[in-house]
Amino acid sequence: MTKTPTLAVWKFTSCDGCQLTLLDCEDELLTLAGRLRITHFVEASSVMEPGPYDVSLVEGSITTQEELHRITEIREQSRILVAIGACATHGGIQALRNFADVTEFTSVVYASPEHIATLATSTPISAHVPVDFELRGCPIDRRQLLDTLCAFLAGRSPDIPNTSVCTECKRRGTTCVTVAEGIPCLGPVTQAGCGALCPAYHRGCFGCFGPMANPNIHALLPILRVNGMDTGDIDRVFATYAAAAPGFANRSGDESS
Ligand code: SF4
Ligand code: SF4
Ligand code: SF4
Repeated sequence: MTKTPTLAVWKFTSCDGCQLTLLDCEDELLTLAGRLRITHFVEASSVMEPGPYDVSLVEGSITTQEELHRITEIREQSRILVAIGACATHGGIQALRNFADVTEFTSVVYASPEHIATLATSTPISAHVPVDFELRGCPIDRRQLLDTLCAFLAGRSPDIPNTSVCTECKRRGTTCVTVAEGIPCLGPVTQAGCGALCPAYHRGCFGCFGPMANPNIHALLPILRVNGMDTGDIDRVFATYAAAAPGFANRSGDESS
């Protein structure tokens, strides 16, 4: 009899939103549970089985010494390791610390900062261990999550686009909010995958899926400025969800050239 593949879900520094996306696959969850045995998922069960695991979904960024050790152990226990969400793929919102003094942050936020043991940076999982696949977004998209799990079950590569959010606007017939309403939008440089969610609700994309492959940020900056963003606004929007992604973090070089 063929052994049912096992799935483990892990949390590092994060808000749990990406793990909840798995629970949000309501209609498909029972079918999935019939094809995969979920053997470690603290968010959903108190029963934890030891590894090894066929697939590990890893949420969150590495921000403490303890997490550094733990991700190495999880990698050793996992045949396939998938980083899920902006925290795990780009350091997340907490990667803002990478541009500041963490000691100063902790002294402002905590009454007793001497009890805080944290690293100076927030880094993606791939900065520490080999990652087999990355799912973008804050949170991830449930259709992409399901496709990725089905792909690994079927022994094929996940069918995930690396084009821009603009291509998804065109595909769903959404009128461009920048062209029609003058709303600044990072869609032209952000990786597709959300189905152009924000433009569909008359909002500009703020880049939560991180940079697409070879983003032309230099071409986008004057358009953002024409539509009302000053340097501070541009700095903030590029540093919000994917602050640690070189494609967005190296933006200052584009602007000065
Ligand atoms: S990527 Fe967003 S939703 Fe997912 S864990 Fe990080 S903060 Fe939460
Ligand atoms: S709304 Fe944004 S993502 Fe959509 S086409 Fe316009 S610039 Fe591109
Ligand atoms: S449109 Fe942009 S900000 Fe909105 S969900 Fe998609 S990638 Fe994220």
